[in-house]
Amino acid sequence: MGSQYRKKSFMAGRNGADSLFYCSFVLYLTLFGLNLMLHSMPLYYINICLLILSVFRFMSKNIAQRKKEAAVCDRIISYMLPNSSQLKRRLLESRTHTFHECKYCGSTLRVEKRRGKFNIICPKCKNRITVRNWL
Ligand SMILES: [Zn+2]
Repeated sequence: MGSQYRKKSFMAGRNGADSLFYCSFVLYLTLFGLNLMLHSMPLYYINICLLILSVFRFMSKNIAQRKKEAAVCDRIISYMLPNSSQLKRRLLESRTHTFHECKYCGSTLRVEKRRGKFNIICPKCKNRITVRNWL
């Protein structure tokens, strides 16, 4: 069996990336960059905990509990970003859809998350666009 099959079977039944994963990982990267300047040991340990939490949630097989936690995160995002509806939509739908920009008209295209390379037709300008999803 190939590596694609092993990767697919390893991730089967696991939570994967959701909005809370992305939020915690972005927070981890931000604090990591901040700590490069501050050299703070407490911040270092907080950062390690954030990374462990992110990986734990990503690999977890308790999907029902992870969905509840992600729903809380989604509500917080909705509360915090009331004016940025496009960013909010991308965060909330990042688990099921990918977003691509049409190279002809610049509009954002929402595509159901599937692995591989496929053609889509832009609903605005009707041009055919080839997109490739890695995840
Ligand atoms: Zn277009």
